[in-house]
Amino acid sequence: MIDFRLDDEYEALRKTVHDFAQSEVKPVIGDFYIREEFPYEIVAKMGEMGLFGLPVAEEYGGMGGDYFALCLALEELARVDSSVAVTVEAGVSLGAMPIYRFGTEEQKRRWLPSLCTGEALGAFGLTEPGGGSDAGATKTRATVDGDGAEWVINGSKSFITNSGTDITGVVTVTAVTGTKPDGGKEISAILVPAGTPGFTVAPKYSKVGWNASDTHELAFDDCRVPVENLLGERGRGYAQFLRILDEGRVAIAALSVGLAQGCVDECLQYVGEREAFGNKIGAYQAIQFKIADMEARVHSARLAYYQAAAKMLRGEPFKKEAAIAKLASSNAAMDNARDATQIFGGYGFMNEFPVGRFYRDAKILEVGEGTSEVQRMLIARELGLK
Ligand SMILES: Cc1cc2nc3c(=O)[nH]c(=O)nc-3n(C[C@H](O)[C@H](O)[C@H](O)COP(=O)(O)OP(=O)(O)OC[C@H]3O[C@@H](n4cnc5c(N)ncnc54)[C@H](O)[C@@H]3O)c2cc1C
Repeated sequence: MIDFRLDDEYEALRKTVHDFAQSEVKPVIGDFYIREEFPYEIVAKMGEMGLFGLPVAEEYGGMGGDYFALCLALEELARVDSSVAVTVEAGVSLGAMPIYRFGTEEQKRRWLPSLCTGEALGAFGLTEPGGGSDAGATKTRATVDGDGAEWVINGSKSFITNSGTDITGVVTVTAVTGTKPDGGKEISAILVPAGTPGFTVAPKYSKVGWNASDTHELAFDDCRVPVENLLGERGRGYAQFLRILDEGRVAIAALSVGLAQGCVDECLQYVGEREAFGNKIGAYQAIQFKIADMEARVHSARLAYYQAAAKMLRGEPFKKEAAIAKLASSNAAMDNARDATQIFGGYGFMNEFPVGRFYRDAKILEVGEGTSEVQRMLIARELGLK
């Protein structure tokens, strides 16, 4: 039976986040964006609402929901602003989920309660200055010191979301920890608490978009953490982040759908107000067709992520569907942002209206958590093309 209706619980969550985004985020976020300032108060409120713990079990301080609940929340947040949405996305899917999925009981009890309430933020350091798509090219190394008590980490990571805020608690870092029997790199994931000596956070980047979110380059210089900070099994780091990225792609797809929907929302209002040549511009078929195309893109992209999430929740393989959802929805976000700014004319280029922000925020959706080319590679591989 096919049914894409949201049940009462999902719909109540969607509506709660929708109302929050419209009343608490929309009126203020544009100024944070222009000032390139991290919105701590909004993050605290989202923490109180439980958004950072949506897919985590209650025994670890979460809401006991599922990953689809997270996606619905991300869609509603991104409908208004993507910086806020990606702060939650990265905090949950890249910060908390690796610990929740692969951590020891002790690691879960130590980190998840504060990550779930938003009192602390987690980050995931995979990308390096030398490359992101080719994760096997990781150069960061971690060796066990002489008496076997500590990992000693050396290397650097680039573009890491949530890694340098006042409330950043922990960064999961991938590092080469040895050589596999086949001669390949053994990659493991290690938890590095914020403030560990030898772990330096560079000043924030100057970015094209996501300007109210937090992104830094990180350096590890003889950074020592206890051997117990290994996340999951040694040598399983590659497999772990592939799983985390598959899930994360569904989350980024939801965020992209939110941005694409936000473009439709803004345009519907504007074309009913703006006049040209004696008519509301919404009366012109060229404008109507543009909005119809935008709506069609959002609709199909949403179905793509709902279906990927449904397979994930059923425990079925969902790699191809996640890649399709991410590819289709980031395309939809880019196309809708371009059309929306065009419909706004000169005002589309002004920070006064959200569509200019949507335009700047859309581009990264084709890059982060796997570029569009990487999504195509994954889809082709799933189709048996080698
Ligand atoms: C704002 C922001 C936040 C981010 N947050 C995080 C984070 O929290 N954690 C994290 O680990 N990373 C993060 N990233 C990094 C992001 O995931 C990478 O930028 C992305 O995976 C691409 O890697 P790259 O930038 O090294 O590009 P590259 O891998 O150098 O790719 C450059 C170009 O070459 C193409 N390409 C590469 N290989 C192939 C191939 N085989 N065939 C065809 N084309 C190819 C790519 O598609 C791309 O177009 C973030 C990035 C940004 C900008």
